[in-house]
Amino acid sequence: MSDDTALVLFSGGQDSATCLAWALDRYSRVETMGFDYGQRHRVELECRAALRDGMAAQKPEWAARLGEDHMLPLAALGEISETSLTREVSIQMETGGLPNTFVPGRNIIFLTFAAALAFRRGLKHIVTGVCETDYSGYPDCRDDTIKALQVALNLGMEKRFVLHTPLMWLDKAETWKLAENLGGKPLIDLILEESHSCYLGDRKHRHPWGYGCGTCPACDLRAKGWAAYCEAV
Ligand code: ZN
Repeated sequence: MSDDTALVLFSGGQDSATCLAWALDRYSRVETMGFDYGQRHRVELECRAALRDGMAAQKPEWAARLGEDHMLPLAALGEISETSLTREVSIQMETGGLPNTFVPGRNIIFLTFAAALAFRRGLKHIVTGVCETDYSGYPDCRDDTIKALQVALNLGMEKRFVLHTPLMWLDKAETWKLAENLGGKPLIDLILEESHSCYLGDRKHRHPWGYGCGTCPACDLRAKGWAAYCEAV
């Protein structure tokens, strides 16, 4: 496995778009991977091509580094999970303190499939946009979960994968700042216009912070982060 290769878990959201730019800035070959698990906001998957093309158009070296895209159907995950991301139920907090947007095991499953693909493709660095700072309380986004998973994957596959989480300790405003540092205003504009966060899949309403219903938890987080970023610059 070349030390200069990476696989980015790329959903089409703000976080994974920023992670793709982060990887394109560092590694000479970068491939992307997305998952279709029957999410209600499947529209995010349609944003992926525009983001990839947009980043390739911004810097010649990014275009040269950007490799294949892989889309994996994971309908089974949607079928066995009872959540508001995969069923027509309203978003709310559950008694255990987790929102019902939590898809149990999602990131563990994603990273396990990513490692299996990285194994075959010879990609050493695996990049994911999970974040512990202003996450929704998802336990599989925690730093300890990812570190434990890296150990398990490396033992179980007899490899030396490195799981990277560039956003782990950033809030949403700092994530915008990271995008600015990586690609300036053109990258900010691209992520604003083409990335998708809204849980309800709303691409009709355009706000200063991008498209979305404006009221779901993902829109709320994105709007607040954009406002804090604008205040800081
Ligand atoms: Zn929304």
